[in-house]
Amino acid sequence: MSQIQEEIKRINNGLPQGVRLVAISKFHPAEAIEEAYEAGQRIFGESHVQELQQKVELLPKDIEWHFIGHLQTNKVKYIAPYIKLIHSVDSIKLLQEIDKQAKKVGRIIPILIQLHIAEEETKFGFTIEECRNLLTTQDWSEYPNVQISGLMCMATNTDNMEQVRREFRTVHEFFVEMKASCTNLTSFTELSMGMSHDYPIALEEGSTLIRVGSKIFGERDYSKG
Ligand SMILES: *Cc1c(COP(=O)(O)O)cnc(C)c1O
Repeated sequence: MSQIQEEIKRINNGLPQGVRLVAISKFHPAEAIEEAYEAGQRIFGESHVQELQQKVELLPKDIEWHFIGHLQTNKVKYIAPYIKLIHSVDSIKLLQEIDKQAKKVGRIIPILIQLHIAEEETKFGFTIEECRNLLTTQDWSEYPNVQISGLMCMATNTDNMEQVRREFRTVHEFFVEMKASCTNLTSFTELSMGMSHDYPIALEEGSTLIRVGSKIFGERDYSKG
């Protein structure tokens, strides 16, 4: 068994029931994805539309492709026919565009609302306040072709694991609050949090989808991207 396959098996075997691994394959070649596929992995996440399109062409049709990066509205149309879950909805404008493109291809596309919780200035997403406002005041029947399936976040990129835990806990508490108050959103069940260096903490704090890349596939070679 290759190192990729061992890591896929090790991580999947350690997941609590109901939690799924999204193998983040961005910047890694199709062959690396094939190896993971042969170890039973079916959910893969990518963050660039063009790279994703190329991989979709090459790889088995039963792969569930998730989109995890910042998505420009003018690119939604390319992935609308097949994308299984968009983790990174960071504006109303993007939500509207996904609804529009999903309608064109006769789909209902599941999405997560991305929260901005980390300290870094540059990260995309809604604040908790904005998200609460969105979820509790929006009339979701206006967007019949998107399915709001939960929340996604990235913790601050720090070695301070207590801070990371605090951020995950805050998001989980908010997730539970929204599940309770948005009873019309029956699809609101997923909490996407945890990456290579912090997913064990995310699991303890209630994640249902972990997004693990470098721990499985090794360091990314950006020069080829
Ligand atoms: C790249 C990326 C990941 C995976 O990061 P690793 O540290 O390689 O596990 C997870 N989530 C998002 C949003 C990413 O962009």
